[in-house]
Amino acid sequence: MYYALPKEYREAETDELRERIRIAKEKLGNKAIILTHHYQRMEVVEFGDAVGDSYGLSKIAASSDHVEYIFFCGVHFMAESADILSSDNQLVFMPNPLAGCPMADMAEISDVLEAWEYLEKIGGDKKIMPVSYMNSAAELKAFTGEHGGLICTSSNADAAYKWGFARREKLFFFPDRHLGYNTGIKYGFKPADMVLWDFSRENGGLTVEQVEQAKVILWKGHCHVHTNFKAEHIKETREKYPEAKIVVHPECPAEVVENADATGSTSFIVKYVDQQPSGSTIAVGTEINLIHRLAHQYPDKKIFVLSGRICPVCANMYRTTLNDLAYCLENFKDIKPIRVDEDIKQNARLALERMLEVH
Ligand code: SF4
Repeated sequence: MYYALPKEYREAETDELRERIRIAKEKLGNKAIILTHHYQRMEVVEFGDAVGDSYGLSKIAASSDHVEYIFFCGVHFMAESADILSSDNQLVFMPNPLAGCPMADMAEISDVLEAWEYLEKIGGDKKIMPVSYMNSAAELKAFTGEHGGLICTSSNADAAYKWGFARREKLFFFPDRHLGYNTGIKYGFKPADMVLWDFSRENGGLTVEQVEQAKVILWKGHCHVHTNFKAEHIKETREKYPEAKIVVHPECPAEVVENADATGSTSFIVKYVDQQPSGSTIAVGTEINLIHRLAHQYPDKKIFVLSGRICPVCANMYRTTLNDLAYCLENFKDIKPIRVDEDIKQNARLALERMLEVH
């Protein structure tokens, strides 16, 4: 995709951009809603009508029938999900359409279909329930819906496991191996109950026996932001700040999750920080823009990133700037909305609607 911001918007000063956004929002009134993900830049979040994680924002998109336009400041799979869940006469725009998610890109539909062909010999739809993380392309969501499965987010992954195992004997979890693994451990499985499907190897690098014995098959995808965190960061933090509470996101590796005080979705982290008493020290293992915003929001608490040695920034979330937002709000009539093909939409919606029911 080609996207180039016109010079006028590239070179505008922040104060001018803020004023133009304010005026454009005012003109649109109740016809539009701006949704901002927690990992967006602080100045973008300020203009959001709602801020949330992918689960919360998709719920808002699904229930915003009153608006004509949804401006989604997030990454591509989120805007696609908003298009799938909104009605046909609503339009979804991404202020910066280049913002993708590398983890979602790790589960290409051609690789998924090849894996499924192999797994069909071991029971397919009768035995194996596909469960896909929200962070996935619309094609994978449609595959999931078509095969009876559902979408989950880090907010409802536990409930999604319960739902899946009530119906079939195994789960095929896409694309985040860490969320899938950490949820499996929480569900009560042993590490040996879970196997890793390596899509770069023939038959995922697994034998028929390994698949037959497994309860969960994990797609080998990961988030490069959350896998920055290591157990040694927790050890160092505990030595330096023995009083600190450590809260991390379940996309972090198991060694981090096991040693933290609490683990949960982005919304969980926001609530956790809010609930700690004034004067608390809190080390957070997630995306840096959210941590900065929390530190700004709660000046009475010491809030910092779990490791000072890394900068866990999601460069894709960071792509959306005030310049993009101003341009998009003023020119959306000339911009191509995010549209998911009708033949994909139907099954993808099925999987997403199951997600909204299961929590
Ligand atoms: S933080 Fe990770 S999972 Fe989330 S959008 Fe960025 S790369 Fe994707």
